[in-house]
Amino acid sequence: MTTVLPTPVVRPARTQHHAPAMPGSPAPTRALADRWGRVADDLRISLIDKCNLRCTYCMPAEGMAWLQKDRLLTAEEAVRIADLGVRIFGVRDVRFTGGEPLVRHDLADIIAGVRRLHPEIPISITTNGIGLDKRIDALVDAGLTRVNVSLDTVDREAFKELTRRDRLPQVIKGLEAAKAAGLEPVKVNAVLMRGINDTGAADLLEWCVTRGYQLRFIEQMPLDADHTWAKENLVSGAEVRARLSERFDLSPDPVPRGSAPAQLWEVRPKGASASSPALGKVGVIASVTESFCAACSRTRITADGKVRSCLFSNEETDLLSVMRSGASDEEICAVWAGAMMLKPRAYGSDEVTLNDPEYVQPERTMSAIGG
Ligand code: SAM
Ligand code: SF4
Ligand code: SF4
Repeated sequence: MTTVLPTPVVRPARTQHHAPAMPGSPAPTRALADRWGRVADDLRISLIDKCNLRCTYCMPAEGMAWLQKDRLLTAEEAVRIADLGVRIFGVRDVRFTGGEPLVRHDLADIIAGVRRLHPEIPISITTNGIGLDKRIDALVDAGLTRVNVSLDTVDREAFKELTRRDRLPQVIKGLEAAKAAGLEPVKVNAVLMRGINDTGAADLLEWCVTRGYQLRFIEQMPLDADHTWAKENLVSGAEVRARLSERFDLSPDPVPRGSAPAQLWEVRPKGASASSPALGKVGVIASVTESFCAACSRTRITADGKVRSCLFSNEETDLLSVMRSGASDEEICAVWAGAMMLKPRAYGSDEVTLNDPEYVQPERTMSAIGG
C-alpha cells in the first residue's frame, strides 16, 4: 500500500491565548511564541540519551555514541530549566523523557525538585517501563503525576524483534505497578511496524482496555538511527483505525480534542449500542499523515541542554553552555525564547515537507532528541 502524505497545513497566525497560570503558580511574564502564531507551553526535557532497549524505529542495534556524563544536564540544571519554563513562560506540563529516563538514578530527585517549586504542575515521564515497578513508589512520593509506558506489542517474539531485547515481562510489571500506584490514566504508547506488529493492533487494544490502560498509536516518524523509514511502509492512522474496527466499534470521543496530538475514540464491542458504556478510549496520533504542526505547543530540551524547537529541527540552541557560563535567569530565558521564535513551520522546515525529495532526515535519532 502506498501512502500519499499531505502537505502540512500551517494556519496563518491564529489566536492562541496563553494559558492561565496553574493555581498556586506565579503568573507567567513571557511566552515561548513563534513566527507562526503558536505558543509553546508543553515542556519535554530529555534526561539521558542511553536506553536499555534498542527499538528498531529509534536506535541502532549497536554503535551508538553516548553523550559524555559531564555534557548531560545535572539534576539541578534540569530543575532550573523546568522552573524557568513554568515560572517565566507559563509552561503547563513538564514531561521527562530520554533515551530512557529510568536509567537516571536521580530521576526522583529531579521530580521532587520541580514539585517543591511548583506544587500544582503535572509532572510526567515517558518510559519503556523497565524497572518502573521498583521505582514507582519513590517517583510518586517525589511528585510524579502521570506516566506513559511505551509498549508496541504483547507478543513476546514480536517484542523481541522490535526492541532487540527479550524484556516484555519487565515492561508489563512496570505497567502493573503504575496502575497499582494509583496513577490515572496510565497511557501506553505504541508504534506499529509493518510485518512485525501491525497485525496485532486489535490484540494490543484488547489487552489494554481489559487492564484499564489508555492506548495511543503513534505513526512512525523518520527519526530512526538506521534511516530505514519509508513512506510506503508507514502504518497510517487510517490503517490503524481500519484494523481496530475489524474487532471493535470506534466512535469519536465526545470530549473536544483541542490542540492534543491524539485523536481519541471510544471503544465498544462490535455491534454494541452507541449508548452502552465504552470499554475505554484509544488514541491515534497521526503525526505524519494528519499533521498537527499548526497547533504544536511543544518545546524540547535535549539531554545535553539544547533547545530543540521542533522534533525534526536541524538546528539547536545551546542553553546548557549559557547556563554554565553563569547567566542570569533573564539571559537564559532570552536565549530560549529566541530559539523558539525561530521554530520551523512543520517537520523542521518552513518549506520542505516529509513528502518532498529534498527532505533530509535529521541527524539526531528519537532517543537522542527525547520523544
Ligand atoms: N524510552 C522511553 C520510551 O520508549 O517511552 C522514552 C523515550 S522514547 C524516544 C519516547 C517515545 O518516542 C516512545 O513512545 C517511542 O515509541 C516514540 N518513538 C521513538 N521513535 C519513534 C519514531 N521513529 N516514530 C514515532 N515514535 C517514536
Ligand atoms: Fe529506548 Fe524508548 Fe528509543 Fe525504545 S523508543 S530505543 S525504549 S528510547
Ligand atoms: Fe511540532 Fe515539529 Fe512535531 Fe510539527 S513536526 S508537531 S512542528 S515538533
